[in-house]
Amino acid sequence: MKHQHAIIVGGGIVGGAAALELLERGWAVTLVEKGAFGSGASGAAAGMLCPGAEIFDGDGRASGEIFSLSRQVYPDWVEKLEDGAEMRLQYRQSGMLRLLYDEAEALQQRIRAQERGLTWLESEAVRQLEPGIAPTVLGAVLFDEDASVHPKLLLKALKRVIERRGGNLLEGTPAMSLIADGHRVNGVETSLGPITGDVVVLAAGAWSQALVKPLGIPLPVVPLKGQMVAVSLPPVPISHILQGPDGMILPRWDGSAHIGVTMEQTGFDARRTIQGVSQIYRAVQPWAPWLRSAEFKTSWAGLRPMTPDRRPFIGLVPGFPGLVAATGHSSVGIFLAPLTAQLVADAGEGRPSRVSHPALYAPLRFMDES
Ligand SMILES: Cc1cc2nc3c(=O)[nH]c(=O)nc-3n(C[C@H](O)[C@H](O)[C@H](O)COP(=O)(O)OP(=O)(O)OC[C@H]3O[C@@H](n4cnc5c(N)ncnc54)[C@H](O)[C@@H]3O)c2cc1C
Repeated sequence: MKHQHAIIVGGGIVGGAAALELLERGWAVTLVEKGAFGSGASGAAAGMLCPGAEIFDGDGRASGEIFSLSRQVYPDWVEKLEDGAEMRLQYRQSGMLRLLYDEAEALQQRIRAQERGLTWLESEAVRQLEPGIAPTVLGAVLFDEDASVHPKLLLKALKRVIERRGGNLLEGTPAMSLIADGHRVNGVETSLGPITGDVVVLAAGAWSQALVKPLGIPLPVVPLKGQMVAVSLPPVPISHILQGPDGMILPRWDGSAHIGVTMEQTGFDARRTIQGVSQIYRAVQPWAPWLRSAEFKTSWAGLRPMTPDRRPFIGLVPGFPGLVAATGHSSVGIFLAPLTAQLVADAGEGRPSRVSHPALYAPLRFMDES
């Protein structure tokens, strides 16, 4: 399967991870990105790698499988990027605490945690671990395998490794349309002219739909805005990722904390707003009272690529040979990127999917509904 050429549309974490995987398998890779690499949702992400909570909340083994598989490959992927780029990504398995303040919910989560062999911590134990949390906390579920990474460092390393491995990364190069010979997709029309290849990987995040619509392919990915804020040095150090009823706090290596996150349906408007910052404050301050006097550092926003069921579209698009979808990762794209990359490369090489239920991620699963 050597010397094939893949064209990847979109330089976010998903397109970048797919580029690296294909390069490692011997493909030639051209990646086109309309702005700067990582300038989409990926650069705005918190960097939580929290499959424990996703599996806990999910509806069973089938939907949890990709989270378990991605958790298995993540540490090696980080190590590969750190070695290849000669930099650290601030990857840390700190564990996540899900804080409960509502009695009925706490009881339900406690029972569920005990059924699944997870640690339930009573109020006092939670505050011993995290003294900055408001005493009204009733308890917490501990997801001790959950981790985090610094997305901007991750993207920087990924870009560096792609280039070192010979990937052709074209920033400031929008793909205007897909090139098809009949139904076979074999290239992309770009601002630099046509680029042709054997496989086109659609990894354009929230902007993916516009590229496939002209071919009559329904791929319902819409933007879901997320805003976050950073504060410097909370007075009480935080060691775990903290998830409250409506917000989260992620401690950073420099002692600062990243706090979020909003879910806003405002189309392609990615502006930061006072309302967004205020919503984050109101969600988190009740259980992190120190936030009131914390020093505000900065805020940012990004557009998640959301699908109707929040599951990504991954795999060959039936009826359109040569086109592989890798989009719609909603709120978990940073975490699912390395596994997605393997699934994309497998699809490009015509190999069977390594997940047991690929239909859950089938690109045309909403065809009848559109
Ligand atoms: C505030 C916030 C917090 C988040 N926190 C987390 C988290 O903690 N953990 C986690 O796992 N996920 C998190 N996410 C979700 C995660 O960021 C996304 O799921 C992930 O970044 C999607 O990656 P992507 O590569 O598909 O999309 P993007 O990063 O958006 O990349 C798509 C790229 O395609 C480019 N593009 C679009 N159209 C074209 C075109 N026509 N031609 C060329 N290029 C094009 C865009 O410029 C963009 O750079 C968060 C998201 C937000 C907004």
